[in-house]
Amino acid sequence: MLASFAGLLYRFTGQSDLVIGLAAAGQSFHEQKMLVGHCVNLLPLRVKLDGAAPFTAALHSTRGAVLDAFDHQGVTFGSLLPRLELSRDDERPPLVSVVFNIDVRDDDIRHTGLEVAYHTLVRQAETFELFINVVDNGKSLVLEASYNTALYSAGLMQRYLQGFESLLRAVCQSTQTPLDALPLVGAEARAQLEAWNDTAAPVPQAPLHALLLATARRKPGNTAVLFGEVQQRYGELDDASARIAQALREHGAAPGADVAVCLERGLMVPAALLGVLRSGAGYVALDPIFPTERVRGIVEQAAVPVLLTQAALRDQFADLPCTVLCVEDLLASEAAIDHAALDAIAVAGSDAAYIVFTSGSTGQPKGVVLTHAGVVNCLHSLSREPGLAEHETALAVATLAFDFSVYEIFLPLLVGARLVMADLDSTSDGNRLKGLIEQHDISSIHATPATMRLLQAADWPGKADLRMVFGGEPLPRDLVAWLLPRIREVWNIYGPTETTITSNLCRITSAEGVIDVGGPITNVYCRVLDAHQQLLPPGVAGELYIGGAGVGRGYLNQPALTAERFIDDPHQPGGRLYRSGDLARWLTEPPLAGRIEILGRIDRQVKLRGYRVELGEIEHALTRHPDVTEALVAVMERSAGDQRLVAYFSLREGAEEPLASTLRNTLREHLPSYMVPQHFVALAALPRLANGKLDRKRLPDPFGGLQTTTVRTAPRTTAEHAVADIWAELLGNSAIGIDDRFGDLGGHSLLAVQAAARLHARFGIKPGLRSLMTDPLSAIAQQLGGGAVQLPAAPVKATAGASSSAAAPRPANAGDIVVPARQKAKKSSNWLGRLFEP
Ligand code: AMP
Repeated sequence: MLASFAGLLYRFTGQSDLVIGLAAAGQSFHEQKMLVGHCVNLLPLRVKLDGAAPFTAALHSTRGAVLDAFDHQGVTFGSLLPRLELSRDDERPPLVSVVFNIDVRDDDIRHTGLEVAYHTLVRQAETFELFINVVDNGKSLVLEASYNTALYSAGLMQRYLQGFESLLRAVCQSTQTPLDALPLVGAEARAQLEAWNDTAAPVPQAPLHALLLATARRKPGNTAVLFGEVQQRYGELDDASARIAQALREHGAAPGADVAVCLERGLMVPAALLGVLRSGAGYVALDPIFPTERVRGIVEQAAVPVLLTQAALRDQFADLPCTVLCVEDLLASEAAIDHAALDAIAVAGSDAAYIVFTSGSTGQPKGVVLTHAGVVNCLHSLSREPGLAEHETALAVATLAFDFSVYEIFLPLLVGARLVMADLDSTSDGNRLKGLIEQHDISSIHATPATMRLLQAADWPGKADLRMVFGGEPLPRDLVAWLLPRIREVWNIYGPTETTITSNLCRITSAEGVIDVGGPITNVYCRVLDAHQQLLPPGVAGELYIGGAGVGRGYLNQPALTAERFIDDPHQPGGRLYRSGDLARWLTEPPLAGRIEILGRIDRQVKLRGYRVELGEIEHALTRHPDVTEALVAVMERSAGDQRLVAYFSLREGAEEPLASTLRNTLREHLPSYMVPQHFVALAALPRLANGKLDRKRLPDPFGGLQTTTVRTAPRTTAEHAVADIWAELLGNSAIGIDDRFGDLGGHSLLAVQAAARLHARFGIKPGLRSLMTDPLSAIAQQLGGGAVQLPAAPVKATAGASSSAAAPRPANAGDIVVPARQKAKKSSNWLGRLFEP
């Protein structure tokens, strides 16, 4: 029983080295067999398990551990604790958190004149987190659990015990089954999981563009798209997309020959995307902020025959290995449009509708191929819940390179609503966003929480009839609490790009309790599996796998990676699952039963202000610098909510430490700006564990320590001083020169919003956020009105972006001085700290 229980804990936690408390009667040890009393010794038992070995191996090792423990009964929990010098945690008992006991009873006791029956007295308190008592009365086994109710609910404990029962039954069938292969889900739990996954519903069987055109042709005079002061009607959208499709066909676009699209946000974006779909091709969306090298890499990987762009961007793509076409030229063409020929192009549900290139841990972005059937299924499901009605106006803010844009752009056009394309500046400026919502009487917004923070920072009063759908990253509780009284509906949607926009969703009606992501959408199902792809019982955390209609085709031209992440469903013949990399569990308690809670990542993928980033990709890019031998990138919080990318690196023997600006420039050639670290820390060597693995816990604090410095020019005018003071406060960097750029010193978009607000309060003028991030301080000060020159331009010593760690300080470069570490900003004195506090 104990071996099975240890096996259960191993399977639930993935931990193969366990300590379980075992209760032993002290009377026999002390040779006081007749002593009356509860003389229990708690023996901490260390059990090591090998999941691949047959159950009998666990049985033998547990048996050995039990016999040893009984031989040394004097070595009790109480006597061990003072000797082990374990670090204590107020919230958890040390060393032992789970206790196991077997209670062998003889229920057949008879006393003349008395009726005898056993009843377990339910305890009012439990010392340990979980106490399992197995009662063996000779006829049956009863599993009893006492547990910490702050950690476990009754329903969850019931499911744990059902898992134990399932494992015990399987062991009774065969003791040779490896521990990893023993089933943890019995018939009842399996039926429950099937019921939660029963999402089957009919969906239109047509490619996405056919459905969009059917809507457009129903009401050609209705407004489809608005951008600034201009608008496009549904009939015009139909015509423009047909013109684009026809031209693309002439240049080779067809099913299986995809088209890259790189456009600035504008009126013609939806028409261009629809045009690509009508040509039969899928579109590969590229963001104009991508460096040219990244675009080239993607164009080569996807082997697109055509890149569709606009005149203003054309020069960037001069020497790409594909035809470059401009939307303006295609629309100016006077060739007759053969609508019938376009409508006759055969596109299958399994053909690619779009391809999203997302950060890749091996150094190259990877292209995820999503199908028409998948996107139609998802949009159809979204049209029912959260829903969007024809009379509504929806706002699109996401970059085209993020699959949220598919939801934002195509759902309104599918249901015949109005779509407002936000201009680029509004997507990063809360005040402008506020203006757009009012101006167009927006009723639906789909955004990342990061975008919502912009509105929050701009003191947005809310809008009583607005629906907001969040996704892309965990929805923070404080944001929910702030929003609920301000708008009509808050929704949370979840889904990796690989499973077509979203796989789960739910409405959030309270900021209390779990903020979950709901159950699977129409024709989609979820599985929570352990490391061996065995089903875990409801309530037990494991990796989330997603199956059904949304599962994408895989990674473009990367069969090995596709096979690793897109697997055959071991629990349903013919099914395919995508391995999300998210730790999750099914919630079991009403009213949330049957919904999924996301608990975090089990790999090194991070979300940084809404962007999906593989830290490995930044590390690869950093090692392209000839002097960098090793790199490790981490996300660190300078204060609550203030996330920074920090790059640690070691250098080739004898190499001089490069300036942060040099490293940034190397990275900017390959990575979009949101992937460029704010801080660089040179180390003599990256910290490693004894087994050679990187030891992330020993990475030095990048915000403290000693910093090498470079010479900078001090602020000269009142405006420059004022800007420098505001930056210094927000960035925690006391010495800022007039040539510094906010973005280079660790500033990110949320801090820029704050800087802009402070500058506005001081000067009555608000610099644009993009300018604030990228222009030198002197240029920003000039925008604000310059001000009288106070000081002659004088060189100052100022902290540089690259810092040498205090843990392994490198000698300062010639001409550098070393300044003492600044104090870490206090949480309470920091605006972001206050804003992000739960
Ligand atoms: P992407 O492929 O960019 O859509 O990113 C997908 C990843 O973002 C998921 O695997 C999660 O780690 C995270 N994610 C997306 N939406 C949510 C959400 N609503 N709650 C928690 N995490 C989310």
